[in-house]
Amino acid sequence: MQDLIRRTADVIKNSRQTVVVTGAGISTEAGIPDFRGENGIYRKLGEDRVMRIINIDFFRHNPEEFYGFYRQYFNFPAVEPSQAHYMLARMEQEGYLAGIVTQNIDNLHQKAGSKKVIPIHGNAEQFVCQGSRCQARYDASYVLDYPETVPRCSVCNNILKPDVVLFGENIYNYVDARELIMSSQLVIVIGSSLTVYPLAGFVREFSTLTQDLIIINKGPTSLDHAALIKIDTNTTGTVLEKIYKHLQ
Ligand code: NAD
Repeated sequence: MQDLIRRTADVIKNSRQTVVVTGAGISTEAGIPDFRGENGIYRKLGEDRVMRIINIDFFRHNPEEFYGFYRQYFNFPAVEPSQAHYMLARMEQEGYLAGIVTQNIDNLHQKAGSKKVIPIHGNAEQFVCQGSRCQARYDASYVLDYPETVPRCSVCNNILKPDVVLFGENIYNYVDARELIMSSQLVIVIGSSLTVYPLAGFVREFSTLTQDLIIINKGPTSLDHAALIKIDTNTTGTVLEKIYKHLQ
């Protein structure tokens, strides 16, 4: 492990541009379960059921049932960023990272102080009015306190939608996310199984052009074979802190 950490720090030092790609696994240490892990909802409820309900068509046609499910299973606990989130913010501040592309919707990179974050699946702390002329935004607290299951806009009374990308919707900032990854010399993936598209596709495309892919994840990912370095760990914060110390 020590050798992998030292080698990772050396690759970062020699990289012209390094971008980090994160998935749910970076936030489990902060207290938010991933979907595929032991406590994840894919295991508890089945991936097909979740994908059927957390879907844009389902939301439009069955808002009552959608929100019943969403309120029960997507109400993330109020948590603080983990050590891993803070280490990445510090590494960006000191010029080692050009940015983060994240699949996470928990807003924890931003809370930890990272400036260049592309959250391609949105932000679960925000809700947007579906009235095409209104589009007012609300914090999660408005929805939590709302007296009915389906929250409505206080201005125009239209339904609110979580500001997250549902199945069947396009991701946010597709072009920017792909460009940031493809223009990098080094991509470090943290806490993702690299099975969720299109982000997994961006990393796959990157890895066909260069070998400079590092993966820090508990368990296998779909691109382990293409990685220059793979660190298998469930303590990403400790690993990042050690890498950071080697950078000094
Ligand atoms: P995923 O496919 O990216 O898999 C998560 C990976 O993280 C798994 O390989 C798992 O073994 C690994 N992991 C778990 N805990 C870890 C730890 N402590 N250290 C290192 N690795 C760890 O994500 P998913 O769970 O299948 O989720 C599917 C989609 O839903 C993704 O887009 C995901 O980002 C999103 N989601 C977001 C959040 C969040 O915002 N915090 C939570 C759950 C799911």
